[in-house]
Amino acid sequence: MPQAPVSPALRTLFDTVAASLQAQDMPRALDVAQRALATAQTPAERAGAQYCMARWHYLHGELDVAIDQAAAVCTLAADADEPIWLGLARTLQARCLNAIGESPSALDLALLAMQGLASVEPGGEDVAETCQAATIALGVIHLDLGDLPAAMQWCERAVELARPLQNQAACGAALDTVACVRSAMAARARDAGHVELAEQHERIAIAFSTEAVQVAHRIGHVDYEASALLNLAESLTLVGEPTRALTLLQDWARQHSETLRRQRSHMHDSLGQIRLAMGHLDEAVTAFETALSLNDDRVHRATITEHLSSALERCGRWQEALARHKEFHALHAQVSAERAQRNARVAALHLDAEQERARARVLTTSNDQLRRRAEDLQRMTVEDPLTGLANRRRIDALLSGPQDDHWLAILDVDHFKRINDDHSHAVGDAVLRMLGAILRDNCRPTDTAGRLGGEEFIVLYRGDPLAGPAAVERLRQRVAAHDWSAVAAGLQVTVSIGLAHATEANDGHALLALADQRLYAAKRGGRNRVVSSG
Ligand code: GH3
Ligand code: MG
Ligand code: MG
Repeated sequence: MPQAPVSPALRTLFDTVAASLQAQDMPRALDVAQRALATAQTPAERAGAQYCMARWHYLHGELDVAIDQAAAVCTLAADADEPIWLGLARTLQARCLNAIGESPSALDLALLAMQGLASVEPGGEDVAETCQAATIALGVIHLDLGDLPAAMQWCERAVELARPLQNQAACGAALDTVACVRSAMAARARDAGHVELAEQHERIAIAFSTEAVQVAHRIGHVDYEASALLNLAESLTLVGEPTRALTLLQDWARQHSETLRRQRSHMHDSLGQIRLAMGHLDEAVTAFETALSLNDDRVHRATITEHLSSALERCGRWQEALARHKEFHALHAQVSAERAQRNARVAALHLDAEQERARARVLTTSNDQLRRRAEDLQRMTVEDPLTGLANRRRIDALLSGPQDDHWLAILDVDHFKRINDDHSHAVGDAVLRMLGAILRDNCRPTDTAGRLGGEEFIVLYRGDPLAGPAAVERLRQRVAAHDWSAVAAGLQVTVSIGLAHATEANDGHALLALADQRLYAAKRGGRNRVVSSG
């Protein structure tokens, strides 16, 4: 969420709303959002508080209210010249419109959100997070519009944007959405009779769903975990592994018997479908009945009732099947009438003058340009501007994840202060840029080179467990042997390097500390050398 200009007290309230929503504690989220609204003073603060309310209504399923409130946020944010709240509010409106089946308007708004963000100075976590939110919205909307290649491009971009973010919920959701797009591609291939291609897509969907489940589980986001797990179970069933799917869902249901009724209901509905696919008809009926007993939402009840009706029919229980079938039709008619009413309200939704102007601009900007802009933003959040290597944020993200079998080297330029002093700061910068180029040249595609800050660099060597020390020694020699006179006459540059292997430390941060100790040993030992033990 945007940092300024919001008082620390209000920021705490905003964070509490976000955390309560993530924990599915809707009453608490509403209570705190109302408190935020009552205490907000500046236009930016009011925009933020109103945004919390809008999100609450969105997640509570009151989409028309959410749309109105998000429109109010847009006005407040535009008045306060707050592009980030504006981007978030437009993205939320787009998600609401898409959810009620207004995908073309949703697309306009999401593109508008992206376009508005294009003028924001990149760099901060909040810019990156907002851009990621707009990107994933564009993926979901394209999926619903049936444009699967575009959906895939936006969703994959959203995953890349989410990986370095602190907000790992965004990453889980993006991974889950990529899985959905893959499943849609599989379904399309199946319909066209391309069995093998369908299987390939579904296997990739399984890999993404599996990662989404892991991320959601790690951060304790039960809702996302359930949603990703259902997708995973469906894909497993489709590739002929219903037993595995069944075990996964049953384990989850056992561990989450206290979870919200809605999620348990979805879980039992999926269990029913898997049972049906396996030919376990009585168990399928029981599962659908349980799902129905746990769900008060008419839209969901309609779907589950339809499932139940066809399961009863396959059991030969015709009377009951017919009764459920009628029930389904009644619910369906009710739901359609409600939807028509809601759509009429949406049609009456007027975009304000500022949005109209921006909309005119966005129509002249192609999808492709916006996608390139998203790429730029992504690069800037993970790239060091001076050298083009991975930046500190990216390195931290790599070191926070699971550490595989790699070497970590820290390089520090020897007597760099003297280079600055004897030549100039500009020459110092040129040396850093050239070092960046040398590191990049000496990296294989599986390695990562980055700049930790100042004149310190890092290289992660992956793959060959024996090659690390030799590669690092070669790198040291290359730097020393490089013809630096092209940068400044008489210039000599050497580096000291500390090297450590992942197996020597418990986690990425301990590994970094160990390599750093060795770097200092290299300095003490006379510089221009590698230390890899002790
Ligand atoms: P040692 O061999 O012990 O590492 O000595 P050193 O002079 O390299 O180490 P020290 O940490 O004392 O100095 C690092 C200098 O790097 C100080 C700082 O002004 C300079 N520096 C940090 N970032 C940059 C940068 O982005 N550009 C330039 N030109 N200089 C930088
Ligand atoms: Mg240093
Ligand atoms: Mg130094």
